[in-house]
Amino acid sequence: MLGLRKNKKKAPLTLPNRFHVKMGDTVWVTHGKDKGKTGIVRKTFHDRGKVLVEGINLIKKAVRPNPMAGQQGGIVEMEAPMPVAKVMLFCLQCNKPTRVKKTTLGDGKKVRVCQKCSAQFDS
Ligand SMILES: [Zn+2]
Repeated sequence: MLGLRKNKKKAPLTLPNRFHVKMGDTVWVTHGKDKGKTGIVRKTFHDRGKVLVEGINLIKKAVRPNPMAGQQGGIVEMEAPMPVAKVMLFCLQCNKPTRVKKTTLGDGKKVRVCQKCSAQFDS
């Protein structure tokens, strides 16, 4: 045995503590095959650091027919979760992907605001 692979441990997965996007946000894809596309966040997976975006990162999955559920077999195209670091929040007001800043309103409510045009994301 050569034993060369002994120390090649997989690096531990580092997950972001908090997500910069929420369910229902419109996001812009920064990496990968869907780069430059926008979609709406359908689900967030905090334990895996991933988000499910509508119409983004489509995969083809072979599905067995399930007559009980009335499901037909074949190849089904579905969305797969993608890393949250590969999406940016998209501002619909200035039509650009932006970063957010947080500001406190007059009544003490904290809201996320577009850094470019100061449009509110949370109403
Ligand atoms: Zn904006």
